[in-house]
Amino acid sequence: LARPLLRLTARPAGCTRRHCLSTVAQHHPHIQEVLLPKQAIEARVNELGRQIAADYADKRPVVIGTLKGAVVFMADLVRAMEPPPPGLELEFVRASSYGAATVSSGKVDLRMVGPTAIKGRHVLLVEDIVDSGCTAVALLEHFATAGAASVKLVSLLSKPERRTVTCEPHYLGFPVEDKFVVGYGLDYAEQYRSLPYIGVLKPECYA
Ligand code: 5GP
Repeated sequence: LARPLLRLTARPAGCTRRHCLSTVAQHHPHIQEVLLPKQAIEARVNELGRQIAADYADKRPVVIGTLKGAVVFMADLVRAMEPPPPGLELEFVRASSYGAATVSSGKVDLRMVGPTAIKGRHVLLVEDIVDSGCTAVALLEHFATAGAASVKLVSLLSKPERRTVTCEPHYLGFPVEDKFVVGYGLDYAEQYRSLPYIGVLKPECYA
C-alpha cells in the first residue's frame, strides 16, 4: 500500500516538495515557519552575484557589508560574482539600531571598521534586510558625502510595508512580509545567525 504523504499547507516560493519536507523535518525548534529554504537562497544569491559581476566588471567596487547581519549573505554573494570584478575590495561597517529588541529605535549609529578610502570609488553596500529603511539611507548618505563615485545597495531581504523613509534596494534577494525573521546572518539577541535558511521566530522566543 502507498503510504500517505505528509500534507503541507503553503509552499514558499522557490521551494520544491522535497526541500519543504526536509526543512520541516530538520528546522530549529524555535522556528515557527521556514520562509526561505537554503536552496532558494542559494539560487537567488547566485543570480544576484552574476548580475552584479556584470554591472561592476570595470568599476573596481568596494563592497561594504553591515555587521553583523550581512556577513553570511556577503560571503556567499562575493563568491557568486562570476567572473570576479577586478580590483574588488571588501570592507565592513558597524550599524546598530536594534540591540536586543525587535522594534527599531529609529536612531542609527555608524562606525567603519578600519580606514576605508571611499573617495572616487564605486561603493556597493550589502544589507541583510531593509525594514524602516533608516539604516540603509544613513549609510548611503554617509558614503555619498565621503565622495564615492557611485553608491548602490544590495539587500537580501526587504519589508516594503515597514518603510518610513524612501529606500529601494538596487538589487534585492526577496521581498518578505512583516514578520520578524532570523537565520542566514540575521539574529535575535545574537542567536540563530548560523541557520542556513530564513525562518520566522516563534513569538514566545522574544515575548
Ligand atoms: P531599518 O533601519 O531598515 O529599520 O533596520 C535595518 C536593520 O534592522 C537590519 O539590518 C536588521 O539588523 C534589523 N532588522 C529589521 N527587521 C528585522 C528582522 O525581521 N529580523 C532581524 N533579525 N533583524 C531585523
